[in-house]
Amino acid sequence: MTIQDKLQQAIRNVPDFPKPGIQFKDITPIFLDAKLCDEIAENIINNFLHNPGKIDAICAIESRGFFIGILIANKLQIPLFPVRKAGKLPAKTKSFTYELEYGSATLEVHTGVIKPGWNVMVHDDLLATGGTAIAAAELVKSEGGNVAGFSFVVELGFLNGRERLSKYSDKIVSIIQF
Ligand code: AMP
Repeated sequence: MTIQDKLQQAIRNVPDFPKPGIQFKDITPIFLDAKLCDEIAENIINNFLHNPGKIDAICAIESRGFFIGILIANKLQIPLFPVRKAGKLPAKTKSFTYELEYGSATLEVHTGVIKPGWNVMVHDDLLATGGTAIAAAELVKSEGGNVAGFSFVVELGFLNGRERLSKYSDKIVSIIQF
């Protein structure tokens, strides 16, 4: 069975969550399967590093980006730092506010965590419109890092997030697309 088949089976579609009309891709069943988690991390590492590039750190996006993000960082033995929703990080932070369909959202990163010139891979569970990943990329750049690319487990291709992210890096990896 391919990794895409395994993900297809593991990911649960929840209609009308968190609001009517949204097909929510619930990835939590993936974490019940330790071997599948390992395969996902290996797949992202192979696809990402294949097309060349050394990465110095992983920027993991709250909260579902943390799970596989830390596995990848641990396998590569490189640092991971979190990007979180406003008010969650305890020390001094830098913020980036972006527009959502209704209203706006703010993401934050601890200042000084990114070493100058670090090549950073931005990681999240799912790419939809790309707004969240762009906010993380902007934070990486504003703290002196380079955006080495993006990785996701799931990509919702019909929302064209990939096109928006290509302004930051052409290295955009996802395992399964819907
Ligand atoms: P976006 O900023 O539009 O690319 O949205 C990506 C973020 O929202 C990720 O952190 C996802 O976890 C979450 N997200 C957006 N749409 C969905 C969806 N249909 N199913 C699950 N998570 C989603």
